[in-house]
Amino acid sequence: MVYAAGLDFGTSGARLVVMDEAQRLLTEVRVEFAETDRSWDVTWLQALEALLRQVEPGVRSQLDAIAINGTSATVLLCDDHGQPVTAPLLYNDDCGQACISQVASVAPAGSPARSATSSLVKLLWWGAHLSAERQGRARYFLHQADWLAAHLHGHWGRSDYHNALKLGYDVGGLAYPDWLLQLLESEGGRQWLPQVQAPGTLFGLVSTAASDRYGISRDCIVIAGTTDSIAAFLASGAQAPGDAVTSLGSTLVIKLLSHTRVEDSRYGIYSHRLGDLWLVGGASNTGGAVLRQYFTDEELASLSQQIDSDRPSPLDYYPLPRPGERFPINDPQLLPRLSPRPADPTDFLQGLLEGMARIEAQGYERLIALGATPPTRIFTAGGGAQNPAWTQIRQRWLPAPVMTAGSTEAAIGTAKLALQGYAQAQATAAIEGST
Ligand code: ADP
Repeated sequence: MVYAAGLDFGTSGARLVVMDEAQRLLTEVRVEFAETDRSWDVTWLQALEALLRQVEPGVRSQLDAIAINGTSATVLLCDDHGQPVTAPLLYNDDCGQACISQVASVAPAGSPARSATSSLVKLLWWGAHLSAERQGRARYFLHQADWLAAHLHGHWGRSDYHNALKLGYDVGGLAYPDWLLQLLESEGGRQWLPQVQAPGTLFGLVSTAASDRYGISRDCIVIAGTTDSIAAFLASGAQAPGDAVTSLGSTLVIKLLSHTRVEDSRYGIYSHRLGDLWLVGGASNTGGAVLRQYFTDEELASLSQQIDSDRPSPLDYYPLPRPGERFPINDPQLLPRLSPRPADPTDFLQGLLEGMARIEAQGYERLIALGATPPTRIFTAGGGAQNPAWTQIRQRWLPAPVMTAGSTEAAIGTAKLALQGYAQAQATAAIEGST
């Protein structure tokens, strides 16, 4: 039997699952991050330890592979031994205009590094604001997942290209691009860049120290991880070109596995690399947050049961929680369209759901128009996935069958990545052994 652990570090807590090679779930444990005044790195490390210790010793000592996913653009600077020299900056920390302008002056138009919260903007910010003493001690710029994984394998300074996308790493050329290296050469921080490898490839054998401390098998390998949203995609069951996942959470996010890479910063569209394929994504501001402005979750469930989803709504809504939209329409001023409002709340809800289904369909159309592989199956995740009336309405609008996601648990997607990485490492070892 092969046992793989996937760890998911989110914003409010962390999860661990253990799966066998048939993808059966053996263990699932969770810790919530307590509200304290400790630095985040301390909280994460305690969570790592707490998660591993909750796994039965018999399972822990037989683990073959481990991978970790983290929240994208959540980063820290550490020294040669992994000791943080700064408090981490979180995914949503905005580092101000000066560093964004520096990136915008050199990064290509579609680059995911060109956002106020990107990893690269955070690196530049540290380059400009840390004391000379701390800059001298700093050795590696790491993402949350990189740093935690290195506590298990002991090689500081390694990352994966899903986490490194917002650092400006070129996932097409598999190298840091010249514009990035030149920028950091002049602004400082080039020496902090981690080595980047493909998610799902070998980071290294678990260190003796980590094996002893956490009671993990000495033969366990640590596999390069990913970001939380890609891990959730991997958990869904989507795997072939044309497989897509729509997340109906507070916002509406679509992700489509494509033969072709699509980038368009006007619409906030960029592609993650998944082996030889591309995971193309876009996010609309519509979604459950609008529903929450009018209905409780209980009302949503009960009113939805009264919707006749085969009868199209005459209402032509564009539901938004506030003005402004990026995808599939790029218009920072776009106003929500939510009138006329019928007296019957069921009719109103149906109008909202139909409006969102139209936006979702336009989203897929936009990706196809920009060259992405057309969807053939659309898995659904998030709070809205539990709504059968919405699913039927979406089915009327969408170009492919709507399916329920196998799981949406990022830890499960990461355990799958660890299993895949383990199989690949075994195959490589077998080839090396036979030559
Ligand atoms: P997030 O993680 O983005 O906050 P979730 O995936 O937890 O979102 O989903 C929460 C959203 O799902 C809420 O905005 C809520 O309005 C919506 N939601 C909850 N129940 C239903 C339902 N039965 N039908 C449609 N939407 C729902």
